[in-house]
Amino acid sequence: MLVSMVETMAKARENMYCIPALSAANEITVKAAIETAEEKNAPLIMLYMHTSKNPQDMLDYGYMATNLARRATVPVSIILDHGPNFETCMLAIRAGFSDVMLDKSSLPYEQNRDEVAAVVKVAHAVGVGVEAELGHVGTGDKYDQEGDTVFTRPDEAVSFLQESGADTLAVSVGTSHGVYKGTPKINFELLEELHKIVPAPLVIHGGSGTGEDNLYRMCRMGANKLNIANELMQGCVKGVETNDCTGFGAYGFFNYIHNGYKEVAAHMFDLCGATGQA
Ligand SMILES: [Zn+2]
Repeated sequence: MLVSMVETMAKARENMYCIPALSAANEITVKAAIETAEEKNAPLIMLYMHTSKNPQDMLDYGYMATNLARRATVPVSIILDHGPNFETCMLAIRAGFSDVMLDKSSLPYEQNRDEVAAVVKVAHAVGVGVEAELGHVGTGDKYDQEGDTVFTRPDEAVSFLQESGADTLAVSVGTSHGVYKGTPKINFELLEELHKIVPAPLVIHGGSGTGEDNLYRMCRMGANKLNIANELMQGCVKGVETNDCTGFGAYGFFNYIHNGYKEVAAHMFDLCGATGQA
């Protein structure tokens, strides 16, 4: 069934586990993600980033993904990941997404808050959940220079949620988007403190490559949604590379992608502690 992640993440927060948020941007990966969640009897969140210039692409995706999510035997949420502006969030709502993220984390606090509040007003009127980001999760290629990563301040996180009305908050505690250059250093004390004083579920971006032990710990100390993209794509690549795609083998190409994706996804449900929580 298609549900807002606000519902499933509240349960995750109460019981101290995490829901994998899997990048699933097309029919192959959406089907693979849902199939895995059903096999694991776990709640699922699917991430869609709008990279196309054509609004119709998001509507087409929404039609496909929401129909498949509705038929699922486990709770499935579909969120616009890193929505760049109000307009794109509205398009996602029209496309039937259960949740939207507006990422204004690179702007000053007040501007971020006000822009999120504007989306919250519309989204909540139609039962759609909203994720915001405070502090800034940078990209892995600049990680060793401490590039554009800014840690989330707990006092600010509390006031931000109150003032903006957002349902969940992506926090910056040392993870990074994409592939890390250098070794990830996670600020566990900060995550613990955020969980203690912020009265809402917390989201971790940049899960790929963060290290199994780090992720395992984070998922049991207050992280309730873990975004995974790169590692899943690596799984797809491996699925293709480990099969014979020559001659008639080429007909298996999409199955190899499907299976490679599922292998990584299955592991993520276990790592997050979401298995059996549907
Ligand atoms: Zn992200």
